[in-house]
Amino acid sequence: MQENRFCDRCMQKTLQEIVENEETIYTYKRKKIYKCTMCGSTSYKRGLRPSAESVY
Ligand SMILES: [Zn+2]
Repeated sequence: MQENRFCDRCMQKTLQEIVENEETIYTYKRKKIYKCTMCGSTSYKRGLRPSAESVY
């Protein structure tokens, strides 16, 4: 699975691979690990569409 996301290191939108990891899937905010295919840096980001079920 890949998405175009802004990379802090490349300073532009790059194609980033989503790394699904059990530890991250079940964490509080369900952050995903994005690995930039350009520079190889990884970053934690929230998904593009956070669920709006519990908005306070
Ligand atoms: Zn990058």
